[in-house]
Amino acid sequence: MLDKVLIANRGEIALRVLRACKELGIKTVAVHSTADKNLKHVLLADESICIGKPAAPDSYLNVPAIVAAAEVTNSVAIHPGYGFLAENADFADQVEQSGFVFIGPKGDTIRLMGDKVSAIDAMKKAGVPCVPGSDGPLTPDEDRNKAIAKRIGYPIIVKAAGGGGGRGMRVVRSEDELVNSIAMTQAEAKAAFNNDVVYMEKFLENPRHVEIQVLADGQGNAIHLGERDCSMQRRHQKVVEEAPAPGITPEMRNKIGERCCRACIEIGYRGAGTFEFLYENGEFYFIEMNTRIQVEHPVSEMITSVDLIKEQLRIAAGQPLSIDQSQVRIKGHAIECRINAEDPDTFAPSPGKIEMFHAPGGLGVRWDSHIYAGYSVPPNYDSMIGKLITYGESRDVAIARMRHALDELVVEGIKTNIPLQKRIMADENFGTGGTNIHYLEKKLGIDH
Ligand code: ADP
Repeated sequence: MLDKVLIANRGEIALRVLRACKELGIKTVAVHSTADKNLKHVLLADESICIGKPAAPDSYLNVPAIVAAAEVTNSVAIHPGYGFLAENADFADQVEQSGFVFIGPKGDTIRLMGDKVSAIDAMKKAGVPCVPGSDGPLTPDEDRNKAIAKRIGYPIIVKAAGGGGGRGMRVVRSEDELVNSIAMTQAEAKAAFNNDVVYMEKFLENPRHVEIQVLADGQGNAIHLGERDCSMQRRHQKVVEEAPAPGITPEMRNKIGERCCRACIEIGYRGAGTFEFLYENGEFYFIEMNTRIQVEHPVSEMITSVDLIKEQLRIAAGQPLSIDQSQVRIKGHAIECRINAEDPDTFAPSPGKIEMFHAPGGLGVRWDSHIYAGYSVPPNYDSMIGKLITYGESRDVAIARMRHALDELVVEGIKTNIPLQKRIMADENFGTGGTNIHYLEKKLGIDH
């Protein structure tokens, strides 16, 4: 097993990684910014090092400071969590070149999947179903682009190869908008991602977001842990996630999951990963792969009893997967509500001191969070302050538990989105299950 792991992240995921390390007897090093010296995992870690000022480029994105911290503490591996440097191929390379284990895939794999054009190409070759599209980048040839759009059929969406975070895409509904829309998406992509490569896809009007969790050991073994439904979104940000996805049969799950496993083996994937799909009219369409652990990983853990972070650590230590596909059993239902420090109506961030805090509890209730009474939420980072996860033998039980867990959860001193989550849990159509990615914004009266 790894001897000592440096956790290059903050907040709930840093605490989650620390807990997994403790269970495996791995020593931990927390690195933190000056704003984060009182974070829970910093206080619980075996060692901690301040790596810079609050602004992320000065600390959590400061590669030399993080690598130096690994050196002075004799760490053997670095866990990047999610966000920050987790999908930065150059960071992964630098960590390995400096003699440490990067807990994730190889830099080249991150690079391959980080470019959407090369990712889609690799997935097609591996037999993963993709959205009908341009099969490669668009060229300056206007007639060619018009012919591609016509073949796909309007509406289409122009997307940046280097895009992320829901930015760098534009829907085109007719041919007269096409040339202009391509030029505008290119200009935006150049400015935002310094990469003006764009491609085209069929625009799906009312899809759901369904994603497959995989684990691969880089030694020829890959398994999937079923799917999650993350359709409850606002501005492409997930708000509620659940597993399994309503209406997905074991046959559908196994078919798409098996394709994802095959793709992992073909690209030499190592670690935990997620294949994101749009799901419409019974069909899966690959949109991108996340080459890291995700925020919503706990719902998969709850229904499979597999600890994804411990598996990441074992894989990084060079061990083969501890289970095979036949040992993965999906049982019950899990829901996750992201709890954010934000105004529940305007969504404006609400940092500040938490004056009072009570965690919910009871059978089937999991609270993954770093907050405590007296903790001050800094204004410098993402507004998520915790994840409330409930599990039950059925979806209805998981929802009922979530309702009372949200009632029990008390965070005072700052504003939170707990009232919004209560509204979603009381929503009739959420209760039925299977709402699409536009549902929440329509419910909130947000019009694009
Ligand atoms: P990002 O990396 O920016 O998150 P994605 O490719 O994952 O970009 O797409 C983000 C979101 O944009 C999707 O969850 C979906 O809501 C929308 N989207 C992307 N491609 C399509 C498409 N072909 N049809 C309809 N919606 C799409």
